[in-house]
Amino acid sequence: LTKKVEMTPWEKGHFINYQKMNENLNIVRQRLNRPLTYAEKILYSHLDDPHGQDIERGKSYLKLRPDRVACQDATAQMAILQFMSAGMPSVATPTTVHCDHLIEAQIGGEKDLERAQSINKEVYDFLSTSCAKYNIGFWKPGSGIIHQIVLENYAFPGGLMIGTDSHTPNAGGLGMVAVGVGGADAVDVMANLPWEVKAPKIIGVKLTGEMSGWTAPKDIILKVAGILTVKGGTGAIIEYHGPGTNGLSCTGMGTICNMGAEIGATTSLFPFNDRMYDYLNATKRKDIGDFARSYAAELHEDEGAEYDELIEINLSELEPHINGPFTPDLATPISQFKDAVKANKWPEELKVGLIGSCTNSSYEDMSRAASIAEDAMQHGLKAKSMFTVTPGSEQIRATIERDGQLKTLEDFGGMVLANACGPCIGQWDRRDVKKGEPNSIISSYNRNFTGRNDANPATHAFVTSPDLVVAMTLAGSLNFNPLTDTLKDKDGNDFLLKAPTGEGLPANGYDPGRDTYQAPPEDRASVSVAVSPTSDRLQILEPFDAWNGKDQMDMPILIKAQGKTTTDHISMAGPWLKYRGHLDNISNNMLIGAINEANGEANKVKNQTTGETDAVPATARDYKKKGIKWVVIGDWNYGEGSSREHAALEPRHLGGMAVIVRSFARIHETNLKKQGMLPLTFAEPADYDKIKPDDKVDLMCTELAVGKPMTMRVHPADGSKAFDIKLDHTYNEPQVEWFKNGSALNTMAKNAGQ
Ligand code: SF4
Repeated sequence: LTKKVEMTPWEKGHFINYQKMNENLNIVRQRLNRPLTYAEKILYSHLDDPHGQDIERGKSYLKLRPDRVACQDATAQMAILQFMSAGMPSVATPTTVHCDHLIEAQIGGEKDLERAQSINKEVYDFLSTSCAKYNIGFWKPGSGIIHQIVLENYAFPGGLMIGTDSHTPNAGGLGMVAVGVGGADAVDVMANLPWEVKAPKIIGVKLTGEMSGWTAPKDIILKVAGILTVKGGTGAIIEYHGPGTNGLSCTGMGTICNMGAEIGATTSLFPFNDRMYDYLNATKRKDIGDFARSYAAELHEDEGAEYDELIEINLSELEPHINGPFTPDLATPISQFKDAVKANKWPEELKVGLIGSCTNSSYEDMSRAASIAEDAMQHGLKAKSMFTVTPGSEQIRATIERDGQLKTLEDFGGMVLANACGPCIGQWDRRDVKKGEPNSIISSYNRNFTGRNDANPATHAFVTSPDLVVAMTLAGSLNFNPLTDTLKDKDGNDFLLKAPTGEGLPANGYDPGRDTYQAPPEDRASVSVAVSPTSDRLQILEPFDAWNGKDQMDMPILIKAQGKTTTDHISMAGPWLKYRGHLDNISNNMLIGAINEANGEANKVKNQTTGETDAVPATARDYKKKGIKWVVIGDWNYGEGSSREHAALEPRHLGGMAVIVRSFARIHETNLKKQGMLPLTFAEPADYDKIKPDDKVDLMCTELAVGKPMTMRVHPADGSKAFDIKLDHTYNEPQVEWFKNGSALNTMAKNAGQ
């Protein structure tokens, strides 16, 4: 274990530290004295403080030291802008950025990529220069989808990584704990703070038997999604184990882990096995495979390890599944699918079949898909529906081009899209149906929520294996079961498709294709980060002001929000995503979805200085201009939903002082603290009702201390006597410093400068 093996061929000096992991694990083992699951071993071997950390699954908050960070281009913008404001010369944890989300599918790979390069030029220029400056590996547009690139180049057994994308768990196919996080968490780890996460529960999935015929790895997760539903994995890691795992390809295991995001799981993973070794070998990382073999005893669960829940699946009996429409957990075995189509009146005609994406674009997937297409073409048939192919990476694209699968899929009628997310994330200029027209599409992707692919709420999107996508595309209908139904060949004779076949790994090795990687240069100090001052998509972040050391008197309530206020209400997505890298512009969506208690309406509040009714962001800007700090009053579980850091940055940017609520969603509460906003809760939840939207408040900020409440004095608008309310908070010592310094990043910058 003392050997030095680099984490990836692309970087020098970043080593896999099995020795340290082993030492940490031994400390935790002595403390817990019980068998551990594999996921627990990885988590506990990455603890910041293995001696002192509380460890209780589902309860404690773990402070962890991830090995790597990966960001996609949409989320990387604000993460890097924030990191820059910390004033550090380079990232403290190896990090990569991947350009994949901003490429729209329109007419085919080459042209679409060119178009994206011109539309997104300023974003790509910013990412490329900032990566160069801060020692971040940069994967250019056209390189492929983040999760595929990570599996091919960065994931390793026993490692811990975080990524600013929900399908980061894909790396569990190489035995890694890989978790999707918000930008704020990524910034912490880039800046050398530990990453905090609630100790997950562990759901075991025991696989026995062996798959055959039309059943593919995807069917395992389609089945599990049906069992656990979209909420069933929340707060848990799904740990696959059992003899059935050894028959799956590494990329197949990646597919299963990838789509674990659809059941809300923290992540999913498989134990290290020979198939992972073979994949490491094929992707030029034999040294990592050998090193992992030397640590293999800790790269699977202990005998007798206990799971919080256990599911067993016999692969010999597993049928191919199709999930959907509109939700990934509506699982239907192929034998019952025709009946379900009829019973539910789903549109029978299949308009489009789409294969590939980060979920299902391995060499094995493409080879099996091509084998079906080949079989069909030998009978004189081609795709009846529109058919698209999205390679997950340039390496996959180049390899299937060299080995012929790409040509087969094109001859079959496929349009090859860019190596990017494309239709999976709605980057699809779809023209074959009108908006609102009910229609069916089927893909090998992972997510199929309403409108996700083409923004048409009437599109019935199904997800399945690439094998079934090709078969259904061939039939042009959802009423086709390739296991039992025959097709008519060009001469009118009936025939049954052969079950798909395909190698897991290319016999002649992978072809890397075009070079799409930009390594950080030797001389980074002279690199200047490209941000145009006139850009409306990017804006350098100025550090927030430190606290002035005083109580804050006579503040207006910007809005007293009523009922559910999610991060979507605080910082809406949709068209606003374009401004993710421009804090001032995106702040024009601040709280526009929150319901004002005063009038029951969204985005209509009274400006207390003018008496006029105006939009929330405009009112906040007016206060800011006049040098007036303001507060937000909110209800229960304020800030639930996706962990968007913009929801905390925007109120801070527009001059907010505090958010005072009945209760917080924990991540949003922490995000507010990080940005120097005060998240406070009513000690008596009923006090929420005592405050009226037009009241003014004084906040005794000088009282802020660990474990002590803070006083708020309320000056009622009706002129009645002022009264005090007690507010609680969850600040610890270091977090109090965040408040005093103006933000967590200011604190890091200050400490780094000392
Ligand atoms: Fe996310 Fe789809 Fe891109 Fe995968 S292909 S990273 S699921 S948008």
